[in-house]
Amino acid sequence: MKKVIQTCMGCGVTIQSEDPNQFGFVPPHKQAESSEDLLCRRCFRIRHYQEILPIEPNSSDYLQVLSHIAQTDSLIVQVVDLFDFEGSLIPGVHRHIGKNPLYLLANKIDLFPKSTKHAKLKKWVEQSAKENGIFPVGIHLCSAEKGWWIEEALAEINTLRKDRDVYVIGTANVGKSTLINRLLQLEHPITTSRYPGTTLDTIRIPFSDGKAIIDTPGLFRKDRLSEWLTPKELKIVLPSQELKPKIYQLQDQQTLFLGGLSRLDYVQGTQQPFVCYVSNQLRIHRTKRANADQIQQKHLGKMLIPPLTPGQLPEWTRHRIALSGQQKEDIVIAGLGFISTGKENAVIDLWAPKGIKV
Ligand code: GDP
Repeated sequence: MKKVIQTCMGCGVTIQSEDPNQFGFVPPHKQAESSEDLLCRRCFRIRHYQEILPIEPNSSDYLQVLSHIAQTDSLIVQVVDLFDFEGSLIPGVHRHIGKNPLYLLANKIDLFPKSTKHAKLKKWVEQSAKENGIFPVGIHLCSAEKGWWIEEALAEINTLRKDRDVYVIGTANVGKSTLINRLLQLEHPITTSRYPGTTLDTIRIPFSDGKAIIDTPGLFRKDRLSEWLTPKELKIVLPSQELKPKIYQLQDQQTLFLGGLSRLDYVQGTQQPFVCYVSNQLRIHRTKRANADQIQQKHLGKMLIPPLTPGQLPEWTRHRIALSGQQKEDIVIAGLGFISTGKENAVIDLWAPKGIKV
């Protein structure tokens, strides 16, 4: 008799009952019940308890998925996180997807202040995409979470796909699963959660013409701070609501700590504003630069959190930044947020764990 392969309705992984430490585990009696809406233990926990089992990032698997896509004739929808644009890109994406057209969906627009001009933001995405070697056939801003501009996205995808399959790709945590749920309003929503990498295998969701939307797992990028954090810490660091920028008028020889994840030392310059665009939950501490080392030593992992256990992150390294004084500039810390500076000439030291993109 042919063995029926069961898959998890949450993440699409193949169900197994042999090894509780591997993906796709369900207790044997559950598998025997063999219902259509079987959830692996991991998805079950995410769904019901907002809990996650740690998984190892494995980007070589992901590149394999991408290289498969290159062999197909399809439309690629790449989802990026507007709040972490560069950090959520896939390096060399066109190389991986071959000649297939790429449609860029910039998600999480709801995190931006209501006053943000849509057209201006889109222009910025266009420009940034170009600078990063991405040449999309279209760009669309949306919020999968809120359902904003999703119908328009689907209409555009339908026009662009021309009877082809649609592959949805992106780095972990950009909102692919949330988006697909929105697009198709599935009877059984696939697993979405706040934590990176919760979609493990590809999931095929058919269109009426026999083609499909195929959701792929997320790629991990080690140069993003969010990849280093535990689920508990991510709850603090990943913004879930409209950002309330925090403004600090800094004099030189002052320091800002962004939780215990990054530190800005104002080394030299006149007083000017520094606006922090980070999760509303992340606490920022201002202090004198002269006291900063001592405070860091004493309070990292205590008052300065996350991280809850400082040893889990690489040592901090210093990035010396000279502000030209010509215009406002943004200092982006991948996976954390950005700090917008004033227009004064200045020297800044930005500290972040080694390897994190600044
Ligand atoms: P995936 O790893 O790319 O599939 O990402 P998920 O769909 O699991 O989403 C990751 C996290 O981002 C979850 O906490 C979602 O609730 C959140 N998220 C997804 N889309 C949006 C959005 O449009 N706005 C906001 N604020 N959060 C979103």
